[in-house]
Amino acid sequence: MNSKTKIGIVICDRYRRCAGGKCFRAMRNKEGAFSIYADTEVELVGFTTCEGCPGGNIEYAGEEMVKNGAEVIHLATGLVVGYPPCPYIHTFKAFLEKRYGIKVVVGTHPIPKKYLDMHTHLGTWKDSAWESLIAPTMSDEKTRANYEYQKKLDRDKSGSYQHQGGSLCRIPGQTRPPGKCEGYEDPE
Ligand code: SF4
Repeated sequence: MNSKTKIGIVICDRYRRCAGGKCFRAMRNKEGAFSIYADTEVELVGFTTCEGCPGGNIEYAGEEMVKNGAEVIHLATGLVVGYPPCPYIHTFKAFLEKRYGIKVVVGTHPIPKKYLDMHTHLGTWKDSAWESLIAPTMSDEKTRANYEYQKKLDRDKSGSYQHQGGSLCRIPGQTRPPGKCEGYEDPE
């Protein structure tokens, strides 16, 4: 492998507001699907969404990322853990690999525990076709726990932030933006 690998990340449009916190942390720590880069530096050259079902941005995003030097495109973990998981993963992967001659990896950050628990309950990943798709992001229990979601906060009219579901933020008079407030975490 090269001393530096340039990558692009495509996220599921359901999580389009995501600022990429978990993906970037995993990339920095070489965790989840980024563990393949243990011996190389990683440079992010593109980050975008699929633009919503059925993925109208995949063709353009792939072209731009490759133009910017991407050697690998990651389809973010959100495609795998969403309810339901993206039905087009195989098509995206096959298309991007054939069209641009690059490697496509399914997944970015480790699968957070709550998604593993729910999909195990639902039986989503029972089919053997899922085995290779979830393998890069399965990680170990301790790593998964580090990517567990906390409650998200919503801004109320007064400018304070509240947990979704209406419970008050634990920080009195909280006016800092999401990401700065204890209890907030990116949706994906
Ligand atoms: S489910 Fe797939 S096609 Fe639909 S928005 Fe998510 S990544 Fe895009």
